[in-house]
Amino acid sequence: MADLIERRARGATREFDVAVIGGGLVGASFALGLSGTGVRVLLVETVAPDSAAQPSFDERTTALGNASRRIFQGLGIWDRLAPEAAEIRAIHVSDAGRFGCARLSASEQGIEAFGYVIPNRVIGAALWRGLAAAHGVESRVPARIENLAITGEGAEFTVVSESGGPEHVRSRLVVAADGAHSLVRTAAGIEADVEDYDQVAIAAPVVTDRPHDGTAYERFTPSGPVAVLPLHGGGYGTVWASAPGRAAELLALSDAAYLGELQERFGWRAGRFVRLGRRASYPLKLARACATVAPRTVLIGNAAQALHPIAGQGFNLGLRDAALLAEFIAGATDDVGAPALLQRFSEARALDRGGVVRFTDSLVRLFGSRIPGVSLLRNLGLLVFDLSPPAKRELARVSLGFGGPAPRLARGLPLK
Ligand SMILES: Cc1cc2nc3c(=O)[nH]c(=O)nc-3n(C[C@H](O)[C@H](O)[C@H](O)COP(=O)(O)OP(=O)(O)OC[C@H]3O[C@@H](n4cnc5c(N)ncnc54)[C@H](O)[C@@H]3O)c2cc1C
Repeated sequence: MADLIERRARGATREFDVAVIGGGLVGASFALGLSGTGVRVLLVETVAPDSAAQPSFDERTTALGNASRRIFQGLGIWDRLAPEAAEIRAIHVSDAGRFGCARLSASEQGIEAFGYVIPNRVIGAALWRGLAAAHGVESRVPARIENLAITGEGAEFTVVSESGGPEHVRSRLVVAADGAHSLVRTAAGIEADVEDYDQVAIAAPVVTDRPHDGTAYERFTPSGPVAVLPLHGGGYGTVWASAPGRAAELLALSDAAYLGELQERFGWRAGRFVRLGRRASYPLKLARACATVAPRTVLIGNAAQALHPIAGQGFNLGLRDAALLAEFIAGATDDVGAPALLQRFSEARALDRGGVVRFTDSLVRLFGSRIPGVSLLRNLGLLVFDLSPPAKRELARVSLGFGGPAPRLARGLPLK
């Protein structure tokens, strides 16, 4: 209490409807979604969006589904992303050294593309440019929060930024978009179940000796899955997941030696790998919050669930969290942090969240298994899938989510 009195004595309290902690891929998208809705928003982010140390907008590339494209169109940033986006016109899934493989073609499904591959830095720059012109959204970056206290009335905390003195803030709702190690989640008393996959992903762009045709590859190998995604302007973004010891060895290799190992694992279907960009590594875990809401608190994106990148679903799912929460808040007639609103949001997201988490986790387990019977079934599964147009149609629809109401933005409609 004495602390609160002292903080207030230092300056007036700033009041907001919604405080968003974390301005990475999901938090920045959510805050931008509330621009112009009349909701007063404060966004706090620790690392400047153009900093080399930004953990969300780093060297990775992200595969966005069509629903995510529509959400970005609704947020008004797609025109800035499109010139840097590579269309995924085909998907090729295979298992190294086995017979089964599955091919999906966008034109066979009657769609232009399954999705788009865009560098994370490009998405970050577009989001933050949008935020600079946003109405009703104030940002503090680089900044951190201290003394976060959440009560039944709202959240209170101090913002410490490089650009100004400490500010005391009160909001009716706090939105945790601060990633897998969410400080807000802990402050709200929400626990997370964490399962270590005992794998580390190495992400790196590669240049090939021939142009790509818009095919995205997923290849399962005995030492872990390799994803190879086409990039705008040529080349591929690669993600190779392997056991931590093996990943450490791979990270220590010269570029040429790493390219050789990658080529051997992946094969030659995309041509010869001739040049490697910077490698970055990510330990892989499934971190699932035990609840996505608590009094005056909502978790979205990685703060709610951090997934294995095997199916490229983590951000797409988090963006649907952001779009639906923005829709609920923009449509609120009274209190944006009311328990009933938060409960409705949590229920509305449960099917999609549960479906994507299960789908991704079972892919990791199915394709991680070297038990002979399992690998035979897996290959038969790929073969059956390859021969089954309805199964392919189903998969092509996955971008809208795994159930529950699809956000209006994801359906190409305005927020309200
Ligand atoms: C190798 C790899 C490849 C992937 N590829 C894909 C893909 O192709 N498609 C896909 O859909 N998903 C993909 N993902 C998943 C995707 O990267 C995540 O889902 C996404 O980053 C989640 O965004 P987020 O904003 O919730 O969290 P984060 O990206 O973790 O961002 C959190 C943000 O919060 C900030 N922050 C943290 N703590 C605080 C604090 N206390 N105060 C203020 N700010 C704070 C951080 O600086 C950061 O900016 C991939 C993941 C990996 C590891």
